[in-house]
Amino acid sequence: MQTANEVCAHAKVECLNQHELIRKYRCLSCGAVMMCRCDEKFGRRFLSHQLDVGTELKTQRRVPVTHGFQPNICAECRNEPLEAHPAAQIYGRTTKIKRYYWRELFFEETTLAADWDEQNPNATTNERLAAHNATKEAALKKIKELHKKSPKYDMSEPSQAEIIKEQNIGVLDLYAQYTDKPEKGKAILWDGKAISPEEFVCQHLKSEGWCVEKLESTPLHALFGVFLWLLIQDVTDPMNRIVCFGRRDNWSNSKFDVNLIQTFLPEDFGCEGYAQRREAEITEHLNWISEHKDDLIWLFDYWIGGSSDLRQYLWAHRAEDLNKARLLLTIMEPMKIIEILQYLLNDYWHHYLGWPDLIAYREDDYLLVEVKSSNDKLSNDQKRWIINNRNCLHLPFAIAKLHKMST
Ligand SMILES: [Zn+2]
Ligand SMILES: [Zn+2]
Repeated sequence: MQTANEVCAHAKVECLNQHELIRKYRCLSCGAVMMCRCDEKFGRRFLSHQLDVGTELKTQRRVPVTHGFQPNICAECRNEPLEAHPAAQIYGRTTKIKRYYWRELFFEETTLAADWDEQNPNATTNERLAAHNATKEAALKKIKELHKKSPKYDMSEPSQAEIIKEQNIGVLDLYAQYTDKPEKGKAILWDGKAISPEEFVCQHLKSEGWCVEKLESTPLHALFGVFLWLLIQDVTDPMNRIVCFGRRDNWSNSKFDVNLIQTFLPEDFGCEGYAQRREAEITEHLNWISEHKDDLIWLFDYWIGGSSDLRQYLWAHRAEDLNKARLLLTIMEPMKIIEILQYLLNDYWHHYLGWPDLIAYREDDYLLVEVKSSNDKLSNDQKRWIINNRNCLHLPFAIAKLHKMST
């Protein structure tokens, strides 16, 4: 039997998931799924359990590898331009080099540490730990030099100033007196008291006649959970399966079984592929909600109980978050709420963070406000939200920028 491998040159491939260590590629002509030979040595030595199946990012489907390792598959081996896929800004991955070269660093560190272990089989735990720390540094140094000599990725990201200018964001310049000894983020003096930058901006907006509430992302997750649990946890969705997780609000309870929640969640929940796969059901559900747009608050209250498990899963279980979600229903137009639901549904894991710090409202007007204290910078999630807001959400938004007042 002739295999696809023998008749097809796999001239054009797509990577199933750029976030996997050993990446899998699908040939666009013959459909074969394979890995690149340049990853073979490392893969066989350290990640042999990751060589048979890949997880497609868009759909979270597990895809079997049909053709093992093949030569010249990845963009680097083909001398094609490399797309950067930086890892998220999380603890331990704070520098750009660590975010952009996460995969190269992992390969380098792992190899160096394993080589050391092989050469020093009788080392004590302390010696091993010290050596592994040293290999981490050596790996980082090597990657930094490599980047300096011939950069693999373009690491330039738009700066805060560029975002503000390009996206045409309103900036509210405020001048505040900072304390010398800030405690728990309370860095500003107001009326003889130390308060946080957010609190300072609240006070300022209130003095201009606005009502102000702290917002951030969780009230949006509550809104999402309440209005969409019936759609997402739909038992007729063939990709729904039972998930089990710890209750978010029951840390102190010592009875193990009471602390677990079992509920339905689709395998591709939160991915771009979910929205594509369920497009018809999503449209139907959102249309139904928009037909009842005058009763959104009633619907919200009615669905609080039913949405409890999904909101637990999303960490949107607190009464405070529900209250703020409910407040949004009184401030924003119903159709805007539906647009927000659609936006979150489109790519939940990329859209659920970065929402602004505050919501200010008066009469028929409202404004979302991101507070930036003097040397505080926008995070990547916030930058992404700002760009997406400008392109699709169109919510009124401003940055309140605090400047140190000279005393
Ligand atoms: Zn092929
Ligand atoms: Zn390669």
